[in-house]
Amino acid sequence: MSQDFLRIAVQKSGRLSEDSLSLFKECGIKFDSKAGKLKTTASNFPAEFLFLRDDDIPGYVEDGVADIGIVGENVQVETGRKVDIAKKLGFSKCRLSIAIPRGDSYQGVKDLHGKSIATSYPVILGNFLKENEIEAEIHEISGSVEIAPSIGLTHAVCDIVSSGSTLLANGLSEVEVIFRSEAVMIANTSLSEEKKAILSKLLFRIQAVQTAKNNKYVVLNAPNEKLDAITALLPGMKAPTIVPLGTEGWSAVHSVLSEEDFWDKIDALRLAGAEGILVVPIEKMIY
Ligand code: ATP
Ligand code: MG
Repeated sequence: MSQDFLRIAVQKSGRLSEDSLSLFKECGIKFDSKAGKLKTTASNFPAEFLFLRDDDIPGYVEDGVADIGIVGENVQVETGRKVDIAKKLGFSKCRLSIAIPRGDSYQGVKDLHGKSIATSYPVILGNFLKENEIEAEIHEISGSVEIAPSIGLTHAVCDIVSSGSTLLANGLSEVEVIFRSEAVMIANTSLSEEKKAILSKLLFRIQAVQTAKNNKYVVLNAPNEKLDAITALLPGMKAPTIVPLGTEGWSAVHSVLSEEDFWDKIDALRLAGAEGILVVPIEKMIY
């Protein structure tokens, strides 16, 4: 019987490629990702990688040509393919927005009634218009959407925005955010038990990498009489580790802080009497 492996579809080249490949590498999976390769096998994990156009990935995963894949949620929803969302990945964050020529008046979504809108996302835009009971003409184009109003093609556009600089450069202003997206791992809905087991091994590793990124290892020194106040501020994985220092009456405290309220915690620790605070990145974190 041939040994089971997971077939993973990732974007060949584009905004998802680099972060997708780094994610697998941070999970300790080794493979050759030289430019131009369309397929490669991992040397230390039961996985094979296919490098594809992102638009094709949901279809391949639905059909089972690939077992899992990484795409933007926007592409996943737009293609309407039936797949499971195995994990949100937190990178390639962007939004799908409606924009109109700067200077055009806009009071609210009702102003889109009777207008024409250029987009590469007719499904997501169509859903938004329907939910808001707006009748507008959707003009589907596959790229360079932002140019449409200035050449007289449409009144408005609906496109991906991250910083807004492309809209600005084309004289457009963003008036409605209709969808927020990030990269997601999608999976075929009927994976074999063997493939499911490999996938859960992979997801466990991704979780460890993501948790580590959201946390920092902190080491600090404190006079013993202030330890109670300081440890009360620190969660740690169980409780903070406290080790006596060479200097009488002092201890070192080791703990883990979440990235979220990191600076507030550091300020509070200093106020409570912490000194010599060292902050170290964590590579993997496993509960
Ligand atoms: P392909 O050639 O594979 O079809 P593409 O041109 O369709 O690529 P990209 O521009 O590489 O796609 O974007 C891939 C995904 O990255 C998008 O579907 C979206 O989820 C996300 N994305 C797009 N633009 C940005 C951006 N400016 N910042 C962050 N993420 C983005
Ligand atoms: Mg594409």
